[in-house]
Amino acid sequence: MRDPRYDILFEPVQIGPVRTRNRFYQVPHCNGMGHVHPSAMARMRGIKAEGGWGVVCTEECEISPLSEFSPYIEARLWDERDIPALARMCEAVHRHGSLAGVELAFNGYSAPNRYSREIPWAPSNTPVRSYDPVQARAMSRADIQQLRALHRAAALRAREAGFDIIYVYAGHDLSIPFHFLTPRNNRRTDEYGGVLENRVRLLRELIEDTRDAVGDRCAVAVRLAVDEQTADGLSREGEGADIFSMLADLPDLWDVNVADWSNDSVTARFAGEGYQEAFLLGLKALTRKPVVGVGRFTSPDTMVSLVRRGVLDLIGAARPSIADPFLPNKIDQGRAEEIRECIGCNVCVSGDHTSTPLRCTQNPTMGEEWRRGWHPESVEHAHRPGRALVVGAGPAGLECARILGTRGMDVALVDSLRTLGGRVALEARLPGLASWARVIDYRLDALSRLPSVEIYRESHLQAEDVLDFAAEHVFIATGSQWRRDGLGRALRQALPGLECLPVLTPDDLMAGVLPASPVLLFDDDHYYMGSVLAEHLVARGVEVIFVTPAADVAAWTHNTLEQHRIQRRLMELNVTLLPSHTLVRAMPEGMMTGCVYTGRTRFIGAASVLLVTSRAPEQALYQALNNTPERLQAAGISTLALIGDCVAPGTIAAAVYSGHRIAREFDAPAGSLTVKREIPLIEVQ
Ligand code: ADP
Ligand code: SF4
Repeated sequence: MRDPRYDILFEPVQIGPVRTRNRFYQVPHCNGMGHVHPSAMARMRGIKAEGGWGVVCTEECEISPLSEFSPYIEARLWDERDIPALARMCEAVHRHGSLAGVELAFNGYSAPNRYSREIPWAPSNTPVRSYDPVQARAMSRADIQQLRALHRAAALRAREAGFDIIYVYAGHDLSIPFHFLTPRNNRRTDEYGGVLENRVRLLRELIEDTRDAVGDRCAVAVRLAVDEQTADGLSREGEGADIFSMLADLPDLWDVNVADWSNDSVTARFAGEGYQEAFLLGLKALTRKPVVGVGRFTSPDTMVSLVRRGVLDLIGAARPSIADPFLPNKIDQGRAEEIRECIGCNVCVSGDHTSTPLRCTQNPTMGEEWRRGWHPESVEHAHRPGRALVVGAGPAGLECARILGTRGMDVALVDSLRTLGGRVALEARLPGLASWARVIDYRLDALSRLPSVEIYRESHLQAEDVLDFAAEHVFIATGSQWRRDGLGRALRQALPGLECLPVLTPDDLMAGVLPASPVLLFDDDHYYMGSVLAEHLVARGVEVIFVTPAADVAAWTHNTLEQHRIQRRLMELNVTLLPSHTLVRAMPEGMMTGCVYTGRTRFIGAASVLLVTSRAPEQALYQALNNTPERLQAAGISTLALIGDCVAPGTIAAAVYSGHRIAREFDAPAGSLTVKREIPLIEVQ
């Protein structure tokens, strides 16, 4: 079954007093569920354990209201009343023979304490990291003693909840032990500031305290960012390695990464698999304790190489475990080619940033395990078997066909084009988005294993064809096109004057058309498309003037940790940026723009305009069918459903989810579909 080359990945590893059954380690990751949706969080983590992850950790876990992360939803161990929620997660993880880890966190000046209104703590007086009008105060010696007591008490609660691995968190420039390490945050002159030995003192004490409190039964892990990738931050070659060496054998496990979070969780647009290796190399030689690290690893060969070369003992993963909770089991069972590989888009991160349950482009069941009862690897056999026709093989159609086929239905998947994948096939050819093709690759591979699914390419279907198809269930996934009239968020009516100059859309560019230079690119989409096309054009010698009504380029990508990288890249490419401006009127040699604050107009000369505003759903086929219910009935069609972008254009994640959901639910008996939720317990007065 298992390829013997991968045996090494299934060796147990001793971590202090506990032993993990294999080297697959789900490092702490946020999920937007945390203490608000504890059963959902527990179920999601339990499924990771079921899928073979030997260690499954929480996200950051608040230890006290003196440092709370609202409105972000993380785990919580403020007092003993928080224990049952996390005990539920530990039980779910233990049920499958895995270890449960908790990342205790006290975030100091990184958390403005919006809920508790406590004054945040920091090594030295400083404003908080966000733009909240809040300053943190320098901790006194008594505060340091109190912090140690709080951490110790939380570790005891964590042990009571059932955790096997308890973290001291010094990563991401987010937590107070890390703030003490860095001179830019720590300007103290007492024994906790100044020379490195002093700045390390708090971290050392917290490790010792935790070991003293729970070390008999639990392993003590340290998450340390050894490099910050900034001029004034820790560096792997400098103090990052020095700190690691000073504490070398003190913890039971090192979880090593880079800071800040955007550097740790870089998207595929900006870094490939294994991008952290340069920072991990050589650390293992400095300690006798096991080391775990991350790098969006999805290839078992890369994992084996990391272990064999002595870079890591444990293969850490957050995103690869989200995209495929069953990644370890698939390797174990000789099914590595079935791994649903993370595409590195960070849509998962957006859940945390918007304080909502996480979602994943590749894994539509993520975040839905408990509330909808979805399992990533199993679906019920169809209640209403019969032939299904899926029109359109974009992400929605591919996923719909995959799930229908898995449910044992006869499925025909039809697309006008030879190349399947719809918008993803086109977008994956744009700069930095090649890994997005994994959305197609995974599904085509899965479909090839489903004998009851047939694929028809280069078949453009009209309503008559659908009626003739003799399918009982018809799913229309015909996608969308980018609008050519400027309509979007800023412009609620078509832009006047567009007949004056050449107008292009992203569809034109993806079809190979190049606009005349200079092109005015109007980005009212605010996600990746505008900036990716700007890069695409600059690479082809076209001068780009980037106009957007938002204050930032690609404003929504703050939620995917990319915004600053995107803006920097466009600036480095000498793209002219005109933020906070909308379009007023197209003119023969350019565009009249208007400031979104003052309304002041400004003429921008351009030879063409590229409109990245919104998309029109392609519903012609659906409407033609839906308008003649008597013909549907005569053709024996009982289900006619619209899915994906042709309902309402959105993210690829939304299209996959739409296809997945309809395929699971279209035949559900009336009243059987429920979405569970947990509501707060009302205190007895
Ligand atoms: P989504 O994101 O909702 O999956 P896409 O735009 O990515 O949508 O994919 C839509 C797919 O539907 C495209 O591959 C397109 O070629 C195909 N398509 C659109 N209309 C028809 C049709 N009438 N017959 C067959 N295929 C169609
Ligand atoms: Fe990977 Fe994107 Fe899924 Fe996150 S949302 S796990 S980055 S595929």
